[in-house]
Amino acid sequence: MIAAPARASVRFYAELNDHLAHHQRYLTLEKTFFVPPSVKEFIESFGIPHTEVELVLVNGESSDFSRLVQAGDRIAVYPVFESLDITPELRVRPQQLREPRFVLDVHLGRLAAYLRMLGFDTAYRNCTADAELARISAEEERILLTRDRGLLKHSAVTRGYWLRETDSRRQAAEVVNRFDLARSLRPFTRCMACNQPLRPVSKSEVLDRVPHPVAERHDNLRECPACRRIYWEGSHYHRMHRWIEELARC
Ligand SMILES: [Zn+2]
Repeated sequence: MIAAPARASVRFYAELNDHLAHHQRYLTLEKTFFVPPSVKEFIESFGIPHTEVELVLVNGESSDFSRLVQAGDRIAVYPVFESLDITPELRVRPQQLREPRFVLDVHLGRLAAYLRMLGFDTAYRNCTADAELARISAEEERILLTRDRGLLKHSAVTRGYWLRETDSRRQAAEVVNRFDLARSLRPFTRCMACNQPLRPVSKSEVLDRVPHPVAERHDNLRECPACRRIYWEGSHYHRMHRWIEELARC
């Protein structure tokens, strides 16, 4: 006996359409299958990472990712809602972290520095394997930021976000907007190189480690307890400050 293929339809809402080809966006899409896929597999077969999905309705009822898709199912897939109130039991992902922490995919070193400069706890190394990134994200409850959709399909990753922007400064603004962080910025409190919170130091403690004019002109010095780097409010600081003020207004 030869099984007939089954067919189910899906509609993706709002920014989930960013992942689809132009001709597929904002339309009801159909797919045939012989072996019923899970809802997660069905959604990801369209290129949508499950980490971007907040709510799935199958034939009008909320569903989790493990449900098997049946012939004739009508599936609606919604992204994270920023303004709509969804009751927690309908969510397919854990609640948003209140104090978001991040782990960044390799090649996002500049974004890591910007996020740290804004005060966010950001794990980053430039040579971390995909499975290790997924593990860090899960175990340390960090949001995995990446430009690689495939990485977000790891089942271990429940918190992740696919960056739309390619420029690192625009990516930082994108993250602030996407996770509603404009009021959580704590600029210049964290080492841009190694992510450690900075501590204030007196001039006398570090006199031998900063250029003489810096020590003369600046009172507000901070030190990274890990790499011992000294931070002060130089011209770079003031340039960045203007950018951060713009971010805080968005
Ligand atoms: Zn440091």
